[in-house]
This record gives sequence, structure tokens and C-alpha cells, in this order.
Amino acid sequence: MARVRTVAVIGGGIAGPVTALALRKAGIEATVYESYPAPTDGVGGAIAVAPNGVAALDIVGVDLPRAWPIHRQVMSIGHKRVQLPALAGVGPLQMIHRRDLHQSLASSVEINYGKRLVDAVPGRGGVTAVFADGDEIRADVLIGADGVHSTVRRLIDPAAPGPRYTGMLAFEGRSPLEVPEEPGTMIFAFGKRGYYLYGPTPGGGTTFGINLPHPPLTITSARAVPPAKWTETLLETYGEDSPGGDLIRRLPAGELTVNGALHLMPPVPHWHRGRMVLVGDAVHAPSNSSGQGASLSIESAVELAQCLRDFTDVGEAFTHYEGLRRRRVEKVASRAARTNGVKAPGPVGKALLPILMPIFMRIAMNPERVLGPEQRYRIDWVTDLRSAAA
Ligand SMILES: Cc1cc2nc3c(=O)[nH]c(=O)nc-3n(C[C@H](O)[C@H](O)[C@H](O)COP(=O)(O)OP(=O)(O)OC[C@H]3O[C@@H](n4cnc5c(N)ncnc54)[C@H](O)[C@@H]3O)c2cc1C
Repeated sequence: MARVRTVAVIGGGIAGPVTALALRKAGIEATVYESYPAPTDGVGGAIAVAPNGVAALDIVGVDLPRAWPIHRQVMSIGHKRVQLPALAGVGPLQMIHRRDLHQSLASSVEINYGKRLVDAVPGRGGVTAVFADGDEIRADVLIGADGVHSTVRRLIDPAAPGPRYTGMLAFEGRSPLEVPEEPGTMIFAFGKRGYYLYGPTPGGGTTFGINLPHPPLTITSARAVPPAKWTETLLETYGEDSPGGDLIRRLPAGELTVNGALHLMPPVPHWHRGRMVLVGDAVHAPSNSSGQGASLSIESAVELAQCLRDFTDVGEAFTHYEGLRRRRVEKVASRAARTNGVKAPGPVGKALLPILMPIFMRIAMNPERVLGPEQRYRIDWVTDLRSAAA
């Protein structure tokens, strides 16, 4: 069978552009199609890229000049604080505004905007992608990098599971309040009624993120709620926390970013079918508690491209890709699910908090065992996977 020459990548978030860059490096022509009508700043404020994600980005020649390193991570529960030991010989987490990450990616790869995939028709030796505007394009392979609400996942398997709501809505802001923390510190805070995280921002103020326990709400409905009303709701949950309450109170009007429902993907039975395959959140969103969603998406994008480079048979390439990735991503997801249980205390979870917290602390105190395998993962781009497998 002829080697793959053309690839249509659906989704211009994080996994899509990285897949296209890696395919290009592998000598395969890739075009990215994104449903948004124009470039956006990306959803939400800041995002942490883990050392494994930074290393995978390096393979495709993307660096993060506007990121700031996190050298110190602290767990705060009520008045107790525990500093998480750093992993020896591993670089720091890199915090970056999504708009800067998107700019770094979009400057390296062309994205076709206003192209919402609605269908895909398999044909002889390829797939025809059908877009909402009536356009159709044909490629040897179609890659779904279209996020947790993936259309490609449904096209591959109409019975595929959908994303699961974690029970939390996400908010972000940059408060002018200065917290007494060293630059490069990130605090993971378990307040009286909810979880939040914060840290000093280079240039002043404090960047914070909130995971508010809340019944499910679509992003459109969440954004339709007046910001002042959200501030009131957030203060009901975090008002008594320090500095959580003050971070919210000092936030200028209109500066609250509503990121909407936090989801995770349960294991996806079918990662590929025929000439269609999934990458990124579309197939393995581990919930934001892992701090690995973006990094795993970047890794998967690079390894998928490597498989298409090294295996001439598409089916073999996809099987090898799933073999490389599935165990790893599902392990990270199960760790994150345990943390989520602690972060979203419902009536039962709240009662369990004193029991869950020491367990969580023990995990947190041994990051080498938990985080080592996640953050030390490095892709060997040079090795030919087919020869290695043989
Ligand atoms: C509040 C929040 C905080 C987070 N913080 C972190 C963090 O600190 N560290 C971390 O590693 N991860 C974090 N994550 C997770 C991270 O954002 C995701 O793992 C990452 O964005 C996945 O990238 P992706 O490209 O697979 O999906 P996305 O970034 O969701 O991109 C998918 C793209 O596909 C497009 N699309 C969808 N459907 C179609 C269609 N039919 N046709 C064409 N285009 C389509 C969408 O418009 C979107 O642009 C966080 C997530 C949230 C919600």
C-alpha cells in the first residue's frame, strides 16, 4: 500500500496544529480545519505545560518564549501548607497564556478557519471530509483533533462514550491583589467549600483559577449569567477563604473569565476506524486535575505522526499508535479522577474529606512515584518504530 501523503486534521486547538507540524516534519502534507470563524485567544486564561509536553513541543520546533516557570508548588489545606518536592533533573512546569500558546502554534502552521466538520465519507484509499459550509475535501487520512465534544469520535463509532462532567465549573482571573509568595510559586488550595489555585503573575497581580462545585451548565448558559452574579456565587463558596475571597473581591468588574464545565473522557473503545483516527482531548481528556491534558495531547500528536511516518500500512500505524499511547493516558486519567473526587466535595465527599485528604497528601508527598513517569516521558523521534517493533 502507498505511504500516506495527505492528511486532513480536524481541530485547530492544541493537538491539531502540533499533529500538522509533526506530520510536516515526517514529510507528510497536512492541512488543519477549525470550526471557529477566526483565530481566537483560545478558551480560558493560563495553562501549565509539563516538562514532557515541553520536550514534545521541542521536537516540532515550538518553544514558549512568553511562558513563566513554576519552581515551587504548594498544597494548602485550611491553614496547613505542604511544599511538593521537585523532581530532580526535570525542568519546571511552564505557565503560559493560552493566547500565547495559540500564537506560537498558529505562527508555525496554517489553519483554515470557519470549517466545521459535519461528516466524513470513507472512499478507496482515503476519506472525504464534509464541512458545514458545503465544502468537501479528500485526504488519505483524517485525524480528529476536535476536543472533548469530538465529531470524528462519533463518526468512528456512533456508540462511543461522550465526555463526563466532573461536577465543577471553571473560572479564571488576574486579580490586582499581591499575594506574599515568591515569584514562580503555584498554590493548590483546598478552601472551606471548594478548590482553587493561584500564584503571582510576572508583571504584577495574582493569576487564579477556580473549580466551583456546581450542577452542569453549558458554556453558553454559563457565559449568559451576569458576571456580578457569578462573583456573588463564587463569594458564597470562597468568600471565607484566604486569599481566595480577597482575590475574587479585588477582581475588577468584567475581568472574570468563565471557562465553563470541566469534563473528562472515559476510556474510548475505538481510537480509529479505517482511515480515521483520534488525537488529544477527543480521545483522552484526563480532566484538568492532572495538569497533563495539553501535554498528553502534544505527545500523542507527535507519536501519531511518527507512526504514520514509519508504517506504510495505515491500519498498522494506527494500531501501533494506540499501543504506544493508551496505557499511558489512561493511567494519568485514573490518577486525575482520584484528585477530582477530593476537589468536588458533594454531601458525601465532604464528609469523606478528612479521610481522603491524608491519602491525597501521601500521594502528593511522593511525587517521584506519581509524577516521575508522567513528567520524565520523552519521545525518541529518531528511532524508526517499524524496525524497532520488528
Ligand atoms: C479550565 C481548563 C484549564 C486547563 N488547564 C490545563 C493545564 O493547566 N494544563 C494542561 O495540560 N491542560 C489543561 N487543560 C486541558 C487542555 O486545555 C486540553 O487538554 C487541551 O486543550 C486539549 O487540546 P485539543 O487540541 O485536543 O483540544 P481543544 O484545545 O479543545 O481543541 C479542539 C479544537 O477543535 C475544534 N473543533 C471542534 N469540533 C470541530 C469540528 N466539528 N470541526 C472543526 N473543528 C472543530 C474546536 O473549536 C477547538 O479549537 C485545561 C482545560 C480547561 C478546560
